[in-house]
Amino acid sequence: PSFADLGLDPRLVQAVAKQNFEKPTLVQQKAIPLALQGQDVLCKASTGSGKTAVYVLPLLSGILKRKSTDATPFTAALILAPTRELADQVFKVIEQFSAFCSKDIHAAKLTENVSDAVQRSLLSNVPDIVVSTPARAWHNINSSALSVDKLQYLVLDEADLVLSYGYNEDMENISRSLPKGVQTIMMSATLSAELDTLKGIFCRNPTLLDV
Ligand code: AMP
Repeated sequence: PSFADLGLDPRLVQAVAKQNFEKPTLVQQKAIPLALQGQDVLCKASTGSGKTAVYVLPLLSGILKRKSTDATPFTAALILAPTRELADQVFKVIEQFSAFCSKDIHAAKLTENVSDAVQRSLLSNVPDIVVSTPARAWHNINSSALSVDKLQYLVLDEADLVLSYGYNEDMENISRSLPKGVQTIMMSATLSAELDTLKGIFCRNPTLLDV
């Protein structure tokens, strides 16, 4: 299949073409349609497999679709990354894929090197998508700077590293603050026992993809 066959918003297909991606990688072919259907997905994928597009494209597509009928601003997606470097990377990928819908998609990045005041001001613009480390996400949820009341998508990238970096408590706090029915996409290079803990906390019957 081509990117155009996966059911994505045409503006995203255009952005993919601009980056000269010829066709979806195997993991993208399998995971994108499932994610677009609203399923929880647990995906074994390492860096280099095109894992970022696996969740960024369905998220953007879903948000664009909703915004075509409902323009109310709210944070629809929270993407958690265990390191600042990964958060930076993911944020760049969002910008690239939003090239043809930048007016409709507003993303914010929260990391330890950004002052609290700046984080609050980023959040006061009600971004559609927040990319954050678990600690910064929980801090801002707890202080009510970030509202997750209407959250639709949660992504855990490099999920296997999230707990080994010591984010257990943040993850539990975040999970307790989320509304029911959030779609969860977990990406992990390995499928360890630790992952089962996160899966148990965040997923409903996830489809396991190990390609
Ligand atoms: P990632 O695994 O998300 O870190 O992506 C690794 C690299 O693969 C990045 O430079 C992406 O831009 C690139 N990439 C992702 N998907 C594709 C694709 N379908 N075709 C060609 N390159 C891709």
